[in-house]
Amino acid sequence: MQASLDRLLGQSIRRIHEPGAEVKSLYLTFDDGPNSDSTPEVLETLETCRVPATFFVVARKAAAKRQLVQDIRANGHAIGNHSLDHRYGSFFSGRAKMLEWITSSEEMLKETTGAPSVGFRPPAGVRTPELHWALKQLNLPLVMWQRRFYDTVVPWNEKRALRSLASSTSGEIILLHDAQPVKRLPGFLKTLASYIKTAQQQGYEFRPLTRALCQE
Ligand SMILES: [Zn+2]
Repeated sequence: MQASLDRLLGQSIRRIHEPGAEVKSLYLTFDDGPNSDSTPEVLETLETCRVPATFFVVARKAAAKRQLVQDIRANGHAIGNHSLDHRYGSFFSGRAKMLEWITSSEEMLKETTGAPSVGFRPPAGVRTPELHWALKQLNLPLVMWQRRFYDTVVPWNEKRALRSLASSTSGEIILLHDAQPVKRLPGFLKTLASYIKTAQQQGYEFRPLTRALCQE
């Protein structure tokens, strides 16, 4: 099933295989930012915990909030491409529009950050044959996730976060969102710190994604 889906929709990265890696690794990813109200606080928590992550930013938001993007990079985190504008309409407008949509987002990010993104993650994780085709033209990896917590729908809490570690394995890409409503942010940050600490106690190391890791 997965093999035939991959033929149609393109291969996607859900976990990182690092052959020979002796340390167990996890890859935190934060989508939908940068957001002035919450991204700086997420950065602060990551800095306190001393772990790097990857931020899949929306290119237009990133261009409008350059300082935030520079802060993300200065803190040692990686930047992924989460589309130009997070609009779903582009999925149904044909190959040429799709290619233009992704090309412009990647160019905007390159211009904002000075480097290419680690890869592309479509809004809501939608995969279509047109997306697959366009990413192939651009040689951009399609980066999905192995684990998610639906943290935009229900508040992420310590119970669910820590329970997930029981079934985690090395190389997992974890989907979270740094664009959190202000009301939920304290609980989110507390859960994040506790999740990181517990995973580290279990021998996990947190790493940022790179283009090379995603392209294998
Ligand atoms: Zn998103």
